Amino acid sequence: MERNGQSLAAPPGMRQRQVDMLVILTGAGISKESGLDTFRDADGLWQKVRMEDVVTPEGFERDPEQSHNFHNALRRTLLSGSIQPNAAHLALARLEKEYPGETLIITQNIDDLHERGGSRNVLHMHGELLQVRCRKCATVMPWSEDLFTSTPCPKCGAAGSLRPNIVWFGEVPFFMSEIEAALRRCAIFVSIGTSGNVYPAAQFCVMARHSGARTVELNLEPSNQAKVFQESDYGPATKVVPAWVENLLKTSCIGVVN
Ligand SMILES: [Zn+2]
Repeated sequence: MERNGQSLAAPPGMRQRQVDMLVILTGAGISKESGLDTFRDADGLWQKVRMEDVVTPEGFERDPEQSHNFHNALRRTLLSGSIQPNAAHLALARLEKEYPGETLIITQNIDDLHERGGSRNVLHMHGELLQVRCRKCATVMPWSEDLFTSTPCPKCGAAGSLRPNIVWFGEVPFFMSEIEAALRRCAIFVSIGTSGNVYPAAQFCVMARHSGARTVELNLEPSNQAKVFQESDYGPATKVVPAWVENLLKTSCIGVVN
């Protein structure tokens, strides 16, 4: 493969670098046009509840019912039928199917809109709203119902042991070793609809650049991390993401490693 006139083939004897791997980081901005409140906007969910009461381990310990009510409302909204994957989710699913190299979506979103849009290689670094985890037996299960403090764990039977399988504030994101490995070997890193405020995701572009990846920001407006990216396009995700995917698929056949 050649890019910018430079050969990217690994020297003989070295492990072949997977030059074509594409890593896509997505955040709340990609789901907003599907009707989900973004967490950090002025009209976002955090304005309506005290986050320390509902999405921290301490808040859950203090008042699990209030935390359950908050997550139950989110889950019902997600499953209401009015929330559907949008053109940006669908474009990324198309990319996974048609891109000649490997693709991985790392999402900060807890919704399932990437999966409903057709994407399969998705890591939910902040967990999933449609999963629960038992604090007693550690089983993770799909979950689409309301959750109460009396709900028994279907696996071990313990009452009150279930919690949303979501990474709350103060907890360690999931899949960090898989994510770091992907950032080390990706050729293209694209960040879509993320504020650049939430660590560790805000550092991913820097890590990908250190590994030699081409870095792209697609967002409604320049994020706090905008200067770190080599390329960018700004506008609604449903416009800029399909356009970027279309263009990448037109040009990426050059990058096929035989
Ligand atoms: Zn259990």
